Parts: sequence; C-alpha cells; structure tokens
Amino acid sequence: MKFASYWHDTSVPFAGAMVAPVSGDFEVAVIGAGFTGLNAARMLAKSGVKVALIEAEHVGYGASGRNGGHLNSGHFASFGAAKAQFGDSQARRLWRAYDDSIDMIEAIIEEEKIECSFRRGGKLKLASKPSHVKGLQAMCEEIRREVDPSVEWLSRQDLRKELGSDAFHGAVLCPKSAMMHMGRYANGMAQAAHRHGATIWEHNPVTACERVSNGWRLTTPTGSLTTRQVILATDAYTTETFGYFRRRIMPIASFIIATRPLTSEEVAATIPGNRNYTNSLNIANYFRLTPDNRMLFGGRARFSAVSNQKTDVRPIV
Ligand SMILES: Cc1cc2nc3c(=O)[nH]c(=O)nc-3n(C[C@H](O)[C@H](O)[C@H](O)COP(=O)(O)OP(=O)(O)OC[C@H]3O[C@@H](n4cnc5c(N)ncnc54)[C@H](O)[C@@H]3O)c2cc1C
Repeated sequence: MKFASYWHDTSVPFAGAMVAPVSGDFEVAVIGAGFTGLNAARMLAKSGVKVALIEAEHVGYGASGRNGGHLNSGHFASFGAAKAQFGDSQARRLWRAYDDSIDMIEAIIEEEKIECSFRRGGKLKLASKPSHVKGLQAMCEEIRREVDPSVEWLSRQDLRKELGSDAFHGAVLCPKSAMMHMGRYANGMAQAAHRHGATIWEHNPVTACERVSNGWRLTTPTGSLTTRQVILATDAYTTETFGYFRRRIMPIASFIIATRPLTSEEVAATIPGNRNYTNSLNIANYFRLTPDNRMLFGGRARFSAVSNQKTDVRPIV
C-alpha cells in the first residue's frame, strides 16, 4: 500500500511558486493554499488587488488534496430538518447554496480552462438497511416537492443498472451532483491565481502574525511580508500561531483510499453507473470511480484528536 494522496500522486504539481524568500508589501495576504485560499487569491488578483498566497507545504496539501472528490448538491440534513430549524426561506437559500457552489466551480473551470475531468455524474444516496428505505423515500419526496424536482427515488431493482451489488435497498438520485480530479483542480486554480498576478509561496509556514502600524506582519522561516489585510484559510491545519481559531476546531479523522485502475470488465461488474455514491449509515462511507478507473473509497475512521494514517487503517463496511 502507498501512503500518498491519490490526487497529488496523479497530478502535475504547480510550478509557479516563488523561489525567492518571503518579502514585500501587499494589500491582502492569504494564508493556506487549499480551495478556500486559492479562490480568494485568484479572485482578488483578478480584480487588481496586490495579493500574496503563503502555503506551509504545497498547493492543495490539506483537505483539498485528500478528499472524496464529490461535489454534491443539497446538504446532508434533510430539507425538512433545515426548514424546522431555520424557517422556509433560509432553508431554501441554504439548499440552493450547494447547487450554486457546483455551478460556480463549473464556471471557474470553464473560465480558467482547468483540465480536471469535471463531470455532472449525479449522486446516489444508498439505503444501507431495509429500515432506512421509508425515511429516505420520504426525504426524496419532500425535496422533490419543496426545492428540487430533479431528485428521484431508485428502487432496489433500478440499482442493478448502477452497482454490481445487492447490498443496498434503494437510493435517492441527485442528478445535479458532480465529480472532478481534486489535485488537477487545485493546481489549476494556483496556476490561474498566478496568471492573474498573485504572488505564491510554498513551503513557508506562517509562524508569527503581528500587528504593525498599517496592518500586519507575517513571518515565515525564509522571511516576512507586510499586508493591510489577512485571510486565514488554514482549515483543520491551523497551528498554535492562530491559537484562537485552533481552539475552535473539532477534529474528525477522515480518509480516502484508492484501488489500482480497474479493467473495463471490472467497472461494468461493480460500478457501471459511474456516479458519486454514499450510504445511509450514521457515519457514512462513500465511493466513486477516478478518471483512471480506480475505485476511490472514503469514510470516517474515528473521532479523535490524534490521527495517524497507519494506525487508523480499518476495513470499510
Ligand atoms: C478525507 C476527506 C474527504 C472529504 N471529502 C469531501 C468531498 O467528497 N466533497 C466535499 O465537498 N468536501 C469533502 N471534504 C472536505 C473538503 O475537502 C474541505 O472542506 C476543503 O478542501 C477545505 O478547503 P480549505 O481550503 O478550507 O482547507 P485545506 O484544503 O485543508 O487547506 C488549508 C491549508 O492551509 C495550510 N496551512 C495551515 N497552517 C498554515 C500556516 N501557518 N502557514 C501557511 N499555510 C498553512 C495547510 O498546509 C493547508 O494546505 C473532505 C475532507 C476530507 C479530509
């Protein structure tokens, strides 16, 4: 077994990072080159702002280069639960935000000409137990009626065209969901930000952030820069340098694993529907095919503050 992210292992790394030490004066400095930081830097640079992007490791090193590769429409909680909690109009806005985010990513890919195998394959939420069918069917009906008529229910028989397995008892089909190659998207976003004029440093963890008269000074092992404003896009990788934010993060260990490329006969026998799939267990597992026909599985291994990819290995059920 190889302990490397599939997405990094199968994409060409970003080649536009600065070789010179960190220095200069900027209007905005973005810390962290995951999807959040990359798009912030890209958009700012595109609108003429002098922006620096500083990454501790390399572009896409964090969750953006290690995830399941699903761009799923709708949220995990039912529409009814969101409506009960937030009211009708907020629940609709929340639901549509998921659809809009996929549309936005599709538009960026088109605009920046990023080759990342984006595809509207749809998602199936699979009933893992017979007792889950009724609840999922009711959820499907509610979504169709209230917010997205394109969603459909697939019976156990319909699933034969989707998966070479009798393990599931029906599924909700969300046709707007998409998939892409996350590593190629991240590197393409970095290339686009660079092209629009962002200055990008990799392998430069920000180790201090202090107030100066007209903004902030960010320090890294190679040097420092000053900036009017800072965008902190460090996600779960936030260090003690930003202790206020780090203390507000709850760790949830989560992993992906990819098989060798499957033959076309193996694809036809196991996953002919070629969509995003997720099951209905409380701690859900999910899977899809990669552009080179590997089966990529993901799931949550355990809830713990400490994560070690070797000791966390556990069979996916
Ligand atoms: C296993 C797994 C599967 C997932 N599957 C999906 C999925 O299928 N669909 C989906 O929509 N979402 C999924 N997610 C969630 C999604 O990947 C994340 O929400 C998203 O990538 C977060 O992007 P980000 O830019 O905010 O953070 P990240 O991509 O985590 O980037 C943060 C970056 O900040 C850098 N950094 C941290 N501290 C510093 C510092 N001091 N100085 C400089 N740089 C620093 C890190 O090195 C890192 O590169 C999954 C996540 C995981 C872990």
